Amino acid sequence: MQKVEVQHICAGYNLGDVLQDINFTAREGEFIGLIGPNGSGKSTLLHVMSKILNPTCGTVYLGDVEIESMKLKEVARVLAVIPQDSPMTFSFTVADIVIMGRNPHLTLFHSEGKEDIEIARKAMEATDTFHLRNRVITNLSGGERQRVIIARALAQSPKVLLLDEPTANLDIRHQIEIFDLVKRLTEEGLIVICAIHDLNLASLYSDRLIVLKEGRVLAFGNPEEVLTVENMREIFGVEAILQNHPVENSPFVILMRS
Ligand code: ADP
Ligand code: MG
Repeated sequence: MQKVEVQHICAGYNLGDVLQDINFTAREGEFIGLIGPNGSGKSTLLHVMSKILNPTCGTVYLGDVEIESMKLKEVARVLAVIPQDSPMTFSFTVADIVIMGRNPHLTLFHSEGKEDIEIARKAMEATDTFHLRNRVITNLSGGERQRVIIARALAQSPKVLLLDEPTANLDIRHQIEIFDLVKRLTEEGLIVICAIHDLNLASLYSDRLIVLKEGRVLAFGNPEEVLTVENMREIFGVEAILQNHPVENSPFVILMRS
């Protein structure tokens, strides 16, 4: 898919719009980090982009197609979502959950075949969950469960992957592994839009950063442009020193005590 385009999106809940006129384009192979304070609208934007929430104005295009004109199953064939928290109350096994990622690609009379099982196996291997395949999801740790959710999303073979703070529950090694994996997939053309809390991880992995504050885009650009002392103050209300990462040369945020 060549691009995902968000045009003049407003959206909200019963108390009114949370998002105000959001515009940006994500290109093929791009990793876009979505940052901003709690409540700034990151999850709401990802909900609109995945057709979970209808906008009150504006349009989202997946490639050249308006998301509004697509069925949910059509959306799911090209776009996968890793939500902020995915409650798991049913006692499915890990393998059952991951193979569910193939559902959008199956037709009414065809259940999953050899190729689907192979894709699910690869998704489990990539997320270090293959050894858990026969375990029941409700018995896993938060981090293990999150990796299974990520495996299911990968099994969807998406062209666009939306992630909402995907590694909040993970230890540092698994955080790096998941981001490395997602980053590798962008080299094959995957478009990634990922809400990230940790500014230094956002800086390390993102080609461009979108900053949301109070439902508006406050800044959009590469990490060097966005992660500045002034923006840290204005967006998050914190004092920081900005340095260059000694190896990656990306901005590195050093936070000061207040
Ligand atoms: P973020 O993900 O950046 O923390 P959210 O998109 O979750 O922000 O929330 C943006 C605003 O929308 C917040 O003020 C939040 O209280 C409100 N909000 C989020 N979800 C709902 C909901 N289901 N019903 C009503 N208000 C909501
Ligand atoms: Mg959120």
